[in-house]
Amino acid sequence: MSDKHILTLGAGPAGLAAAHELLHQNIRPIVFEQTDKVGGIARTETYKNYFFDIGGHRFFTKNDRVNKLWQEMMGPDFLKVGRMSRIYYKGRLFKYPLSIPNTLLNLGIFESALMMLSYLYSQIRPYPEEDTFDQWITNRFGRRLYETFFKTYTEKVWGISCNEIQAEWAAQRIKGLSLIAAVGNALLGIKKSKSLIDEFYYPVWGPGMMWQRFQETIEKKGGEVHLNTKAVGLNHKKGRIVSVAYRNGKEAGEMPVDHLISSIPITKLISLMNPEPPANVLNAARNLSYRAFIIVMLIIDQKHLFSDQWIYIHNPDVKVGRIQNFKNWSAAMVPDHSKSSIGMEYFCTEGDEIWTMPDRELIAIASRELAVLGLSDESKVLDSYVVRQPGAYPVYDSHYRDHLAVIKDYLSGFTNLQTIGRSGMHRYNNMDQSMHVGILAAQNILGADHNLWETNEEQEYLEEQEFTDATTDSGKALADTLSRMDKLAMATAVGSLTGIILFLATIWILLRGDGPAIQKMMLLNQYFMGYTVSIGGAFQILFYGFLCGFMSGWLFAYTRNLFLACHIYRIKKKNESLSLLDFFDNL
Ligand SMILES: Cc1cc2nc3c(=O)[nH]c(=O)nc-3n(C[C@H](O)[C@H](O)[C@H](O)COP(=O)(O)OP(=O)(O)OC[C@H]3O[C@@H](n4cnc5c(N)ncnc54)[C@H](O)[C@@H]3O)c2cc1C
Repeated sequence: MSDKHILTLGAGPAGLAAAHELLHQNIRPIVFEQTDKVGGIARTETYKNYFFDIGGHRFFTKNDRVNKLWQEMMGPDFLKVGRMSRIYYKGRLFKYPLSIPNTLLNLGIFESALMMLSYLYSQIRPYPEEDTFDQWITNRFGRRLYETFFKTYTEKVWGISCNEIQAEWAAQRIKGLSLIAAVGNALLGIKKSKSLIDEFYYPVWGPGMMWQRFQETIEKKGGEVHLNTKAVGLNHKKGRIVSVAYRNGKEAGEMPVDHLISSIPITKLISLMNPEPPANVLNAARNLSYRAFIIVMLIIDQKHLFSDQWIYIHNPDVKVGRIQNFKNWSAAMVPDHSKSSIGMEYFCTEGDEIWTMPDRELIAIASRELAVLGLSDESKVLDSYVVRQPGAYPVYDSHYRDHLAVIKDYLSGFTNLQTIGRSGMHRYNNMDQSMHVGILAAQNILGADHNLWETNEEQEYLEEQEFTDATTDSGKALADTLSRMDKLAMATAVGSLTGIILFLATIWILLRGDGPAIQKMMLLNQYFMGYTVSIGGAFQILFYGFLCGFMSGWLFAYTRNLFLACHIYRIKKKNESLSLLDFFDNL
């Protein structure tokens, strides 16, 4: 193995994937992790043998490399879970993604009618400009549906009013599928896109199990994972990181490095630089922000609460944003099956009222809100535990790109430093994307030339591309089938054919002089006035036949086009509701 000092900061999915890849390439990795466990935001916490995650982590990827790694690490301990999650609104649970019959049934006739009217109004009189999130959504779904199903939850997540959120952000989040892809999926069952997933993987004892297996593998093969070891300074000289100062409990040390891979928040990385970066870089880092997250885990003396893995809470009268039911992720998450353990999730900002609230108050609020929602009773709460997660969501405000550009430019001046991961790149990465970048960073050390800042966009593009490719052949056929039928051409063709057939039939029977056949043919004059089996009658029926055929052909083409339009409209609507699924899942 190479003796080079390749140090990775952070033992979340990104840092561990990088370290694992280095081992693969015969380089001994060293990982510093400030906390006492691996996994980062995707870790599993334990309280009295009740296991729970920071938010419920679904394992789903289109990246073959990452998928293979997951399967190898977990083997039979990787459960395939059928997804069930609903929206809670005003005492009712709505299917998610929203289904029209279920939504209308739950809302009742009056509210449904108002929602339809509001939708129609938004289609007739949309906002001329779509500057903000609320305008963007209202133009697509109507004001009432926006207020019912978008406003409250989004405001809980971001802590600001929806009319302060940029429309561009909504457009990014609700990408939707291309129509052809959705049609392909609906009709031909082509490979599902990420937005359509209804199944995911989950380790028997939660996501932390995956990262422990990574840690074990890395250590078994000679790598080092140092827990409770916090990087406190990055010493650099002439565009190279020369050493990393760290603290392990009371012990302080300094490790020389040949190469540094960092998955710690990029803002923290900047603050650790010694000598310190120029003022504009420090200022850019100060202006990047994160939303934080608190999970209040409640142990409930009740075997069954609800069947969902999680429920989105859209009621404005409670602070809780989402509720996890961990035994529905994996039965092993709860040691006593006569009990349930749930995670009441609160979105906040470090230092705000919720973040600074003492645990006992948070627990009291969570227990009360559970009862207010009618999901259980306060008296059934047996025990509880609170976990605060800083830096959970990188905030995409209107200036973040500019600030990030300043930081990226500064970091590009270092030849032996790479930043990876979610907070490490200030990106809305999922686990698989974080790992993918980690793997590429490790490969760069061995001479590859991946541009890490472009990889996710590239990966997303590839995923889209792969999906589009899968639908291309069938897509072409579909596109042909789906193209509108020319009514005039269809009418002329059917008219001409009918007229000519009747004309030839009349001439044929006339020439044969077949009495009974002539009698039968004469019956046509009940419909075609003045028709006789004669030369004149043949021309007469040529005209009549053309006319009837023309009308039938036109009607057929019209009906077919109408049916097709309805079908496409239905698929489009389904597509939009599927993108709702993606929308909340990515908040
Ligand atoms: C509520 C919620 C739900 C989510 N659900 C899903 C999901 O269902 N599926 C999915 O794929 N993804 C999900 N994610 C995203 C997922 O958690 C992240 O993509 C993933 O954890 C990012 O991994 P990472 O290694 O980049 O960063 P992190 O997980 O943040 O790891 C960074 C590590 O660096 C350590 N560190 C920080 N500072 C220092 C320092 N100075 N010295 C040493 N170590 C340090 C931290 O302690 C941490 O362990 C969710 C995220 C949230 C917030």
